[in-house]
Amino acid sequence: MRSAEPGQRAGAFISPLMGRLRVATLLLCLAPGGGCKHGPLEPPEADAGFAADAAAPTDGGLSTDAGLGPKPGAWRDGVYYEVFVRSFADSDGDGIGDLRGLIAKLDTLNDGDPSTDRDLGVTGLWLMPIHPSPSYHGYDVTDYQAVRPEYGSQADLEALVAAAHQRGMAVIIDFVLNHSSTAHPWFQASSASPSSPERGYYRWRADDPGWTQPWGAGHVWHPLMGSYYYGIFWSGMPDLNLGNPAVEQKMVEAMRHWLGAGIDGFRVDAARHLFESADGQLSDQAESHALIRRMRSALEASFPQVLLVAEAWTDLATVSTYYGQGDEFNLAFGFDTASALKTAAKDGLRASFNQVLAQAEQTYSDRGFEAPFLSNHDMPRVQRELAGDSGAMRVAAAALFSLPGTPFLYYGEEIGMLGGPATKDEDKRTPMRWTAEEPNHGFTVAGRAPWYAGTEAAGVDVESQRGAPGSLWTLYRDLIRTRRGSPALSHGTASRPAVTGGGRGGAALLRTAGDERVLFLVNFAAQASGPIDVAAGGVPTVLFAEGLSGTPSSSAGQVHLEGLAARGFAFVKLQ
Ligand code: CA
Repeated sequence: MRSAEPGQRAGAFISPLMGRLRVATLLLCLAPGGGCKHGPLEPPEADAGFAADAAAPTDGGLSTDAGLGPKPGAWRDGVYYEVFVRSFADSDGDGIGDLRGLIAKLDTLNDGDPSTDRDLGVTGLWLMPIHPSPSYHGYDVTDYQAVRPEYGSQADLEALVAAAHQRGMAVIIDFVLNHSSTAHPWFQASSASPSSPERGYYRWRADDPGWTQPWGAGHVWHPLMGSYYYGIFWSGMPDLNLGNPAVEQKMVEAMRHWLGAGIDGFRVDAARHLFESADGQLSDQAESHALIRRMRSALEASFPQVLLVAEAWTDLATVSTYYGQGDEFNLAFGFDTASALKTAAKDGLRASFNQVLAQAEQTYSDRGFEAPFLSNHDMPRVQRELAGDSGAMRVAAAALFSLPGTPFLYYGEEIGMLGGPATKDEDKRTPMRWTAEEPNHGFTVAGRAPWYAGTEAAGVDVESQRGAPGSLWTLYRDLIRTRRGSPALSHGTASRPAVTGGGRGGAALLRTAGDERVLFLVNFAAQASGPIDVAAGGVPTVLFAEGLSGTPSSSAGQVHLEGLAARGFAFVKLQ
């Protein structure tokens, strides 16, 4: 759920303190002999901080291609793909995407064969809500242990999981823990009578204390039959009373149900809002953290591999609290990072990229890892935010896959879908474009209308771009392949070496795992960078690059580049 003020998301996170820390960091990097080999992005005990280095596969995370399903912690080396099932692929011609449609498209995402090049290479799926719901998006659930009939059956879901695991892909599902639908039988019973056993499944009171949403003026206590119930998002989504042990037990049971069906984990919606204080503090309560700790412990007892991803839409410092002491979420989405990557790509300046990395230096730890991304179903698509600038899109994607953590992309991002022009949410979630064929582009069968109409430019479809030189799809495939082929990029530590030259768009990031070091060099600017020198030792070999002039060389602890074209980048291995 969208749950933060715009100002919290759009680059307003660099406090004066962070600015000073950034200066200190740069001074450290520039100090003679200091380099940044052990730079501040690494936690104090770097090896402990990325302890899974020891346990993780050292072949760059490709173990999941073995067809045996994800190994414990395999998500660390993964690349996840967010799917809105309704908009992905329709198998039965009712205009609504479904699980069978998704299964039929899995080979385009990952065919399980590392030797082929017709698949994107992602290693995980995040399915937006798949449970029965009166809304098209499904974030107001009426049955936490069933599959929405429009999408298929539980057997279809289990078939999807089996097909995904066979290809080395994990499957996580959205879990809307915070609230249900008013149409959920629990709420129906709860609202019918103050004496019903389900009354305490929700929060009721006799009056409206006047609390408003943290991100707006909307009231959160809603009148019904002489009482008021609490629902932070809107009246159709009453918050569950997670302080009631019976509710907690029901939700853990539902999560166990899906793990038992083979699901690998959950993206927990609205994690900041699970609890609220008696005096109207509606975000980030200690009880929310305690609940997640209890749930993780309860789930791991039977399913030690379970992945829990937080949607905590706020600044990075607050997001990092949702890792707890390594006992809450495994991953949390990087909303500041998303803003910073887009700002850097749009403005052609390295500053926001460096700023968000500097901020990460202060907040990353060995407790959890970020899930960096560019945009999701709650935002205008990244291509739209970048005003359709294909160069900006390409450099933003390259930067995304350079970062530590477990990156996520949003269906259609890899072909540059703009989404609809309106601001309504449906325009962020339009049907996937599979072919060039008008009018349905392979989403549904001929003669049937998709559930929602989308319009994109010619060539914005998988068929036109898959494997085509220079296409965005092909770039995403190559970036994912480069990342997965490198332990340093997949799960290594990160530091920022000092950069000399490169103009206002030139930046560098060094990723390290064991003996492997990979330098990411980027020019966000719309002009050529000119020469770039980076304080890093070793002989450079180019793994993958776009717009690189000449051949990188090294001397005296510096890697030298003739330059990067506008929006150019290079992944360079140092040996
Ligand atoms: Ca269908």
